[in-house]
Amino acid sequence: MPAVSKKQLAYDILKALYEAFPDSSCTLDNDTPERMVIRGILSAQCTDVRVNLTCNELFGKYPEMDDILKAGQDKISDIIKPCGLHKMKSKSVMAVADNFCNNWGRKVPEDIEELMKLPGIGKKIANLIVGEVYGRPALVVDTHCKRVMKRMGITVSDDPLKVEEDCCKVFPEESWIKLGHMAVDLGRNYCTARNPKCDICPLNKVCRRCLG
Ligand code: SF4
Repeated sequence: MPAVSKKQLAYDILKALYEAFPDSSCTLDNDTPERMVIRGILSAQCTDVRVNLTCNELFGKYPEMDDILKAGQDKISDIIKPCGLHKMKSKSVMAVADNFCNNWGRKVPEDIEELMKLPGIGKKIANLIVGEVYGRPALVVDTHCKRVMKRMGITVSDDPLKVEEDCCKVFPEESWIKLGHMAVDLGRNYCTARNPKCDICPLNKVCRRCLG
């Protein structure tokens, strides 16, 4: 597909997404930047609902990063067990608390590369943090976004980094944060991994999978 028509496709998709999902937003609770980093880490292979519930308990007991540091990895690991991968995730949580208190000057970095130095933080979570916390243009490519962008014809790749690159070439940067949330809503409600509901999907007039 030539570049111009892909831009047109992106424009049509964006318009349809805004119409279908005007209220799309991040479903992770978002209070302080440092807590958001921890929620992002816990969200790997876990639902946002579970992460929010678990964090209510975690931050209820240990509200500040200093409290988490003092508590130590074992206690944190016990609390975050319901989110899965708790050994790896608790190590990452401790690294956030340690960096926040001792390295970052008590401010979460705005820099994606700096965030990605932490264990447990890849591009997806780093983008989530800079987007949700600092409002900087960043697209979160999760499993839904990856799937729907491929089906709709924006990318041919299954690699999240390449999908992000392909999307960012054709969607305007002011749309990136919300685009990620709308893609999740589309994937959850219509463009499911199995048996996508193309007949009732609000994107079926523009989606390449439907138009052929
Ligand atoms: S029309 Fe079908 S393939 Fe295209 S976005 Fe909708 S559900 Fe997915």
